[in-house]
Amino acid sequence: MKESWVDWDRQQINIPRHDRCDFGKNGGYCGYCEQQARLAAKCNEDLSFDEALEDRWQPKTTTGARAVPFGWNDEIVSVVEAFFEIYDRWPRSRAVVNRRVTKVAEEAGMKSDEVYPHALRATAGTHHAYRGLSTLALQSLMGWERIDTARKYLRVSGGATAKALEEVYEDD
Ligand SMILES: [Zn+2]
Repeated sequence: MKESWVDWDRQQINIPRHDRCDFGKNGGYCGYCEQQARLAAKCNEDLSFDEALEDRWQPKTTTGARAVPFGWNDEIVSVVEAFFEIYDRWPRSRAVVNRRVTKVAEEAGMKSDEVYPHALRATAGTHHAYRGLSTLALQSLMGWERIDTARKYLRVSGGATAKALEEVYEDD
């Protein structure tokens, strides 16, 4: 995430389809991107290492390129603002994110093997589903490829059903 991705007027983070990695030495590709490109070239014989490298960085899926609005919650707004007052991008590796989440979980007395970044993402999806976000909004917010994933979250949570029932019976 870079500050150039943030639209402060609209209060949303625009995750681009492609943003050339300049995280390495002298603005070159970072070690992680090189490693991923090597892997991609190895798994696809029509793809050279250099071609694979040119694609870095990209979201994991095409639906990963999306807008993530944050203006709906003042706490999130202040966290995003505070972060970009200090940094212009996330300055550390992915592994650091994992370690910090583990540490926070431990400090909170939670099972740290059950709390990891991707689990937090799923929790956010469940939270929005409980609050009755529509299928389409949930899918675009989370960047899921398949609408069925959003449908599953909504079905299990019952959030949208509860909201629809409340609207239908609000005058009673
Ligand atoms: Zn990179």
